[in-house]
Amino acid sequence: MPHRLGYQIAYTGCILLYIIRVMKIKVGFGFDVHQMKEGHPFIVGGVQLEHHAGAFGHSDADVLVHAICDAILGAANLEDIGYHFPNTDMRWKGISSLLLLKECMALIAAKGYTLGNIDAMLCLEAPKIKPYIPQMKVKLAEATGLDIDDISIKATTNETMGFIGRQEGVVAYAVCLIERA
Ligand SMILES: [Zn+2]
Repeated sequence: MPHRLGYQIAYTGCILLYIIRVMKIKVGFGFDVHQMKEGHPFIVGGVQLEHHAGAFGHSDADVLVHAICDAILGAANLEDIGYHFPNTDMRWKGISSLLLLKECMALIAAKGYTLGNIDAMLCLEAPKIKPYIPQMKVKLAEATGLDIDDISIKATTNETMGFIGRQEGVVAYAVCLIERA
């Protein structure tokens, strides 16, 4: 039935045009690095890890959450984490980075965007991250309102090379997708 097929093609085309014109989908990228210091608490993805050393910084030095914040801000073209939460401001001293993440969510919401998903990668030599990933996902889901299934956290070592290999520092990368209806 050619008439019916033609109608279906036209209808699908209209829907696609509507999605392209009305919905705006943007991608964001974030990176963060922190120095490791002996005896410091090590907080990653809002979870305290069992380790003899931890990341050092102005806030709780949560490298994973900082990379995610920068990905979210970047996607919405809203500068970066240092612009909104400068390390010279005592309000952010020792603060949980999950609160900064919630602030980032409010900033993109004010611009009409919602978060679609997060994919993040940690790079550190120790400790093993895998057992902590489910807890981290719960913390990030609480802060962002995402489903657990829309949050991916992966980890790798630096094969004992460089400052990461010597356990002098920890690095995180993140990408995210935001959409505006
Ligand atoms: Zn940081």
